[in-house]
Amino acid sequence: MKLFGSSGIRAVFDRDLVNLAFRVGLVVGRNSGNVVVGTDTRTSSDVMKHAVISGLLAAGAGCSDAGIVPTPTLAFVTREFDAGVMITASHNPPEYNGIKLLNPDGSSFDTIQQAQIEEALLVESSCVAPWEKIKHSRVYDGAIEHHIECILPNFPAGLKFKVVVDAGCGAASEVTPRLLKKLGCEVVDLNCYPSGFFPRGSEPSEANLKDLKKAVKETGAALGVANDGDADRMMAVDDRGRYITGDRLLAVFAGAVGAREVVTTLDASMAVDEMGFRVRRTRIGDTSVSEELRNGGDFGGETSGAWIFPNISLCPDGIYAAAQIVAIASRQGLSGLVDSLPGYPLLRGSVSSDGVAMSRLESELMALEPLSVSNIDGVKLNFKDGWLLVRASGTEPKIRLTAEAKSQARVQQLYDCALRAIRDFAGVKGEAG
Ligand code: MG
Repeated sequence: MKLFGSSGIRAVFDRDLVNLAFRVGLVVGRNSGNVVVGTDTRTSSDVMKHAVISGLLAAGAGCSDAGIVPTPTLAFVTREFDAGVMITASHNPPEYNGIKLLNPDGSSFDTIQQAQIEEALLVESSCVAPWEKIKHSRVYDGAIEHHIECILPNFPAGLKFKVVVDAGCGAASEVTPRLLKKLGCEVVDLNCYPSGFFPRGSEPSEANLKDLKKAVKETGAALGVANDGDADRMMAVDDRGRYITGDRLLAVFAGAVGAREVVTTLDASMAVDEMGFRVRRTRIGDTSVSEELRNGGDFGGETSGAWIFPNISLCPDGIYAAAQIVAIASRQGLSGLVDSLPGYPLLRGSVSSDGVAMSRLESELMALEPLSVSNIDGVKLNFKDGWLLVRASGTEPKIRLTAEAKSQARVQQLYDCALRAIRDFAGVKGEAG
């Protein structure tokens, strides 16, 4: 049984997911004495939350309900507990939901902890605590205030900027605007009301941020920031209304925090290696970056918008990242900074598929004569002028492909070859997107 993807448990909401939530609560409650639970804004989050709380209480654990909070906020307050349970499917479409388990240091449960949970779920023990040992759940008030108070001292006050905040109707609808106002910013709200329907799409992708780009230009703001549904991700728009890619944001943040050692995923641009940072690469998924940061590193990030600042937490924090990018913009105009960074043509896409015969695919791709091949996560082929990565998504039934090269013609060639190979050897159900 493999329940955990690259960012926790995620599935389309149905009865099985509710049952699973109860059982996960039971297993976590047996191992942790005191647990805090939070949710994003999804319509099914309350159902899932009560199922998890029932499991925790049935196991005899103490349980505090932090209500609707961003994942990094819950991760932050988890330091007061033995474990945290976040009900979220992050940036997945609104019909999904899921569970992310958190450690007191803010990191997600690592692969060993996930395997222990999966093993315990297989046993299917229906044991519950004796009636006289069962506790009542409590309300945890003020999680958002705690998080804001912890972030504020890291940044200068009086950042008198106009910033457009697009919270995507997710869990950061309240906290990101409130934090930036406390830093002195004039905040223009966009999609800053909680809704489980995510009208602009939950993922802070360029395609979903058209209104943010427009609003930055129309209001003359110094920048725009956007969170995903549970606000562990943050993406930004510069003062010219241009979307800043994740590869560039990775370099911007690493430079701003004076990082010497950066942890990122296999699919991040090779440009970051050329900027003087010592770079350690992991499997895809913020969980892998967070896990690796336990072994050291000043900053970690995934180009999807997950930025980890170990000085505050090992959870990607889209709220702290919003304050950080505003502070950076106070020192230098974002468009000038972004344009000064090295960059190469990079293509990312995905194909809907139930699976792929990765070994056959790798054999086919060897015709491209790579210098080396890595199998840390899917297949990554390295060339003297670029690289190509093909892997099964950890959160959706898709195959993802990424290519980067020093010229546009070469990156297109690598990408097209991978796309042809996937179509030949995988159960493809849809076109690349
Ligand atoms: Mg997320």
